[in-house]
Amino acid sequence: MPELPEVEATRVHLTTWTVGRVITDLTRHDSGLDPQLDTLVGLAFTAWTRHGKALVATLSDGRRVHAHLGMTGRWARDPDPSLRARLTLTFSPASTSGSPRTIAYADTRRLGTTRVLAVDDDPFASLGPDAWRDLVPTDPAAVDRLATALGTGAKPLKDRLLDQSRIAGLGNIAVLEAAFRAGLHPHVPVGQLTHDDLARLVAGIHAHLEATLDDALATDALVYVNEGGPNPFLVYGREGEPCPRCQHPVKRALHAGRPSFTCPRCQPEGAKA
Ligand SMILES: [Zn+2]
Repeated sequence: MPELPEVEATRVHLTTWTVGRVITDLTRHDSGLDPQLDTLVGLAFTAWTRHGKALVATLSDGRRVHAHLGMTGRWARDPDPSLRARLTLTFSPASTSGSPRTIAYADTRRLGTTRVLAVDDDPFASLGPDAWRDLVPTDPAAVDRLATALGTGAKPLKDRLLDQSRIAGLGNIAVLEAAFRAGLHPHVPVGQLTHDDLARLVAGIHAHLEATLDDALATDALVYVNEGGPNPFLVYGREGEPCPRCQHPVKRALHAGRPSFTCPRCQPEGAKA
């Protein structure tokens, strides 16, 4: 499942592949896709923006396309015929070498979105601050921004971090990896967090996203970092393996139906790290 780093890598790739290029042909292979997409032929892409896990493309007539990858969505350049594309875009001949002739969108679970937006429709409006752009450790306002977004009370940290209306872009893996990096138990009540806790959390979120984004940018967006290959994470998916910091075995527990992975020594539950 794509998390923020995969979506940001997709934005970077799509920007490189499509901005300034005119769509000469568009084929919907899936009748469930927005028929308005057909009206984009003859237009050029001018920008791709991302907030949280949502992508928006802007076209040369000012219209915008909402592109959300859902669970399994991915964009490929000059795709292999074996890719079961839902949508294929063809561009005018490449002006620069290395530009793809076609790009395609595939989505086996079909939970993603690709639709032309109405003028007053803003898919970013309901989202909290972006976990990558708005929580930079060198930004003096980042800790207060995170404190405001998390709020107070007894709600577990993990629940609040997963709530896209509070912080946009974090999924289960990112939350667990960031909490480990910060030395915080993911289920600690947000009301117990100190300024120092929050500063370590800002740093932990950023460090996790940065490392994963580097991995995601190294591929052509066809493979998510969290599927196939060796496990790239510090504690996620590592039940029973030694903690990379203290060697204590990593513990797995279920929380609201989803797994949490923690080091019981580095992230004691119910006590300050
Ligand atoms: Zn540990």
